[in-house]
Amino acid sequence: MSHLSNSASGKPAGNPVVTLASRVNGRPRVLIVGGGFGGLHAAMGLAHMPVDVTVIDRRNHHIFQPLLYQVALAVLSPADIAQPIRTILHHNRNTQVLMDEVVGIDAAARTVSLSSGSRISYDYLVLATGATHSYFAHPEWAPLAPGLKTVEDATEIRRRVLLAFELAERQMVEHGWHPPLNFVVVGGGPTGVELAGAISDIAQLYMRHDFRHIDPSKSRVLLLEGSKRILSAYPPDLSASAEASLRKLGVEVHTDTQVTGIGPGYVEASSSSKEGHGRIDAAVTRSLLPEQDAQVTAPALIGALVESLLGPLAPIYEEPAAARTAVQNATVITLRALGIVDARARGLVAQTVLP
Ligand SMILES: Cc1cc2nc3c(=O)[nH]c(=O)nc-3n(C[C@H](O)[C@H](O)[C@H](O)COP(=O)(O)OP(=O)(O)OC[C@H]3O[C@@H](n4cnc5c(N)ncnc54)[C@H](O)[C@@H]3O)c2cc1C
Repeated sequence: MSHLSNSASGKPAGNPVVTLASRVNGRPRVLIVGGGFGGLHAAMGLAHMPVDVTVIDRRNHHIFQPLLYQVALAVLSPADIAQPIRTILHHNRNTQVLMDEVVGIDAAARTVSLSSGSRISYDYLVLATGATHSYFAHPEWAPLAPGLKTVEDATEIRRRVLLAFELAERQMVEHGWHPPLNFVVVGGGPTGVELAGAISDIAQLYMRHDFRHIDPSKSRVLLLEGSKRILSAYPPDLSASAEASLRKLGVEVHTDTQVTGIGPGYVEASSSSKEGHGRIDAAVTRSLLPEQDAQVTAPALIGALVESLLGPLAPIYEEPAAARTAVQNATVITLRALGIVDARARGLVAQTVLP
């Protein structure tokens, strides 16, 4: 089994350049970047193969993302959905786990560089680094509208949602009035739908008897979706059924509605077919969540890999958002054409294998 070692003396030095030790019994070294579903699946598949596997993740734990929204709404605690990657893989005798961040790839030299300053060589590279959200060329929206990809995101959303109710209660006590409690969820993909339903559930069911001065059940939950229907990746009858369920839960569903601006305390949206342009007061909550599912973007590492293989791709990053998303798609298609990417799951979750 290969281990990290200092390339020169075998002793740790300040910011050492290290390489995986040379092959044991000539076994190929497989480097898997990412301990999410993709990376773990690859490691499990290789568990009994004559290879040495290294899994690198910048976190030491795997997150079960489908339950993140339950953490965001205080139904589960973070520990319920996180498990150490090394615990999950500890039966895999041919596998070691390292916590570090891969920051660069040199495909020709078959090495990756790590944020710790180390470098690791490989024979086969599996990139399973997941996907991230797109803010539609509005990076300034990010602090106002946190995404939901990590435990930190989930606890931040939880903090904002709970504080919104607390603040409203205090304002009622102090001033006899509080601004509207509007929770705006941007994006009617699976995550947006789940989150909108769960916020409404919490306000209508769980919190309604906990406050003396406000009535949480009177808060509004708005789900804004740019296309003609929510859950547009699914058949129309499922979209219709989901929309009906949400309305029953008290969620206001606005399809064909594009968010054009987000600022502290408000969301601006325009609808081509209905009310035209409007501003939604969200002064208290600021719980605005970007689309998670349809508009994910490829992580920077995919770009680094393409650059390493094909040369600089500078123009990609100078284009406006729509073009950028398209070019990122093209990037993956290019990788596919090269036979090295299997774009999977939703969005550009890329699992890349380099021989
Ligand atoms: C809120 C939410 C709800 C979802 N619900 C469902 C559902 O109900 N059903 C369903 O099928 N799917 C669902 N999904 C989608 C599903 O979770 C993803 O498709 C899946 O997690 C993708 O797996 P992955 O391994 O590709 O990426 P991830 O699970 O994102 O894992 C990527 C890993 O790579 C690591 N990493 C990234 N970059 C680096 C780097 N440079 N160096 C080192 N490590 C790095 C990250 O730390 C992470 O551990 C949901 C997703 C979300 C966010």
